[in-house]
Amino acid sequence: MDPPMEALTQCWFTRVHHPEHARERQEDGSVMSTCRYCQRRIVTWTKNAWSLADGFNVSRAAELASGRYLTLHDVATDFVVRRFALSHLPDEEAVEAYKDELRARFALDDPDTTLVLMDSQPPPRRAAHRKPSALPPGTL
Ligand SMILES: [Zn+2]
Repeated sequence: MDPPMEALTQCWFTRVHHPEHARERQEDGSVMSTCRYCQRRIVTWTKNAWSLADGFNVSRAAELASGRYLTLHDVATDFVVRRFALSHLPDEEAVEAYKDELRARFALDDPDTTLVLMDSQPPPRRAAHRKPSALPPGTL
């Protein structure tokens, strides 16, 4: 029997899904379960952040799980739209160029978009607070 207000489960508001006890460990290191509130298939790679699993091909995810990847995420529906492997890209510059390409392809700069591109291993930000001038003058 379906819950009468399926669209208004708590994860509809919070976008946080809670797995049931039954979990299936996948060969790629991800864990699949079913959300106890919305009864949708969910997947995690991090053990604490669950995403809806039906937005992308899981066998494709297996191929991607071994390395760095970008996730195109629809924040309005909490839906993983696609993942993109980055392992074929030689350096950070190429990754940035690829991100720009995806931004253009999926119109991510459109102010009305609900899509965001997330990097599984974002490059370390330049530590702006660690100024070289903090060193005493004359320090080698
Ligand atoms: Zn849920």
